[in-house]
Amino acid sequence: MTTARQLTEPTALPVALVQPLLDRAIAGDAPAVEVFAPVTGRKIADLPQSSTGDIETAFATARTAQQEWARRSVRQRVAVLRKFHDIVLAEQDTILDIVQTETGKSRAHAFDEVGDVAVNARYYASVADKLLATRKPRGVLPVLTQVDVRHRPKGVVAVISPWNYPLALSVSDALPALVAGNAVVARPDNQTALTALWAIDAAERAGLPRGLWQAVLGRGSVVGGEVIARADYVDYTGSSATGRTIAQQAGERLIGCSLELGGKNPLLVLADADVSRAAKIAIRACFASAGQLCESMERIYVHDKVYDQFVSEFVDHVRAIELGGALDFTSDMGSLTFQRQLDTVSAHVDDAVAQGATVLAGGKARPDLGPYFYEPTVLTGVRPGMTVYREETFGPVVSIYRVGSDDEAVEQANDTAYGLNASVWTKDVDRGRAVAARINTGSVNVNEGFIAAWGSADAPSGGLGISGTGRRHGPEGLLKYIDTQTIAVQRMLPIAPLPGMSEELWAKAMTLYFGVMKALRQK
Ligand code: NAD
Repeated sequence: MTTARQLTEPTALPVALVQPLLDRAIAGDAPAVEVFAPVTGRKIADLPQSSTGDIETAFATARTAQQEWARRSVRQRVAVLRKFHDIVLAEQDTILDIVQTETGKSRAHAFDEVGDVAVNARYYASVADKLLATRKPRGVLPVLTQVDVRHRPKGVVAVISPWNYPLALSVSDALPALVAGNAVVARPDNQTALTALWAIDAAERAGLPRGLWQAVLGRGSVVGGEVIARADYVDYTGSSATGRTIAQQAGERLIGCSLELGGKNPLLVLADADVSRAAKIAIRACFASAGQLCESMERIYVHDKVYDQFVSEFVDHVRAIELGGALDFTSDMGSLTFQRQLDTVSAHVDDAVAQGATVLAGGKARPDLGPYFYEPTVLTGVRPGMTVYREETFGPVVSIYRVGSDDEAVEQANDTAYGLNASVWTKDVDRGRAVAARINTGSVNVNEGFIAAWGSADAPSGGLGISGTGRRHGPEGLLKYIDTQTIAVQRMLPIAPLPGMSEELWAKAMTLYFGVMKALRQK
């Protein structure tokens, strides 16, 4: 039975903290909306909303700020990221309070976001200079053709981010855009707007010019189109369904977009796995932020030989999870964030149970703890036809399946339209790599759940299939925010027949040249 820790302190934030942040939003012409803390139901703020005029103002200001920012050296821009990194770590108590209050997640899971921002700030500060340097590739005629490939910022990037990882997803995608010389107009989710506004405030205290990173506020369906209509590039994180709408709107304008979408992620426990370790680490992989994590595991495939041991140990760990919403590190797992999430989670579990699935742990809401708490839940006996079999739950629900071989595990893992993240457990790392390579996901963690791949900032992260088209982290996470410009200078001789030379002779000379270049293995 999951135990409960009694809430002892209020979670609504002090007005002295909230009001200056609200004042930063480029919003106020549209009617405000009330935002409530998921854990206590207490109001956090009357959140100002942006009108079309507000959005227009934000983009105009951003465009002006961007011109000056792009003229600064990369070194100057990097200095802001370094300072920002330090502020986020030094002021983590404040931002952890805000993230917890807005999302309802536990402090440990909120800290993952602080870590994500620190890692990405440090990474892009260290590689921006190299990634943005002008490249000098070989010209069509060596020496005679001199080529520079320059990098130009896109201009104003729209970062439209969801509510589940509000710090990581609104900040870690903005930092590479900014260091590449862009301005950013953010549209954080209403539920978690204060987190993004705090980050903007912190970035300005780190030296970012005012107006370069702003936030407009509003429901996606209301303001999303207005934002995309003015952006030079769109970075979107959210569901696959909304991702299609964003792609259409960006496509209509022929601007690029990066889409980070949903997942139905598999975890494979092979016959030779360290079962105890797998059972322990799988807890974080399944229940971080109450499962409201795009990368979290919703399907576990366990080899027959180790199935009983894994299930027994995993369920013991699940039952020991302490639920709570206090603003400290005492709880293992927090609340869901909305009624909508609670409804989806309840519907998936109830449907599975009604069709014959077995609940090994959890399986019910905990209104005694707060309006949206739901117990971490383990299901077996899940079959095709049950909603939870194929659809993303995005909550603390995982289904365990017995498999007889690696091939069966891989086949089951790939039986989905999603392709975001996967996890493989084995004592044989080569076997783990080989199995990983057969799984159709953008990242696979061997002997880890999601943090090994996600936290390796030099490696790209993103989805296959309906999990998205974009990449964040790594060089790809910055290069998407720039256009290249090739400047080729032809010197001395033209790329054309010399005076008096026939086209036929020119063709023969060039054919000879192509052959020599190939023989020399030149690019
Ligand atoms: P959602 O698509 O309903 O909403 C996500 C965000 O998009 C919200 O902030 C919403 O306001 C905004 N939005 C909605 N319609 C919009 C529109 N027309 N224009 C612009 N913005 C719009 O998704 P959700 O259920 O609230 O969020 C959870 C989903 O996000 C899950 O599917 C999850 O897997 C996914 N997600 C993916 C990643 C990733 O990195 N791949 C990360 C976090 C969440």
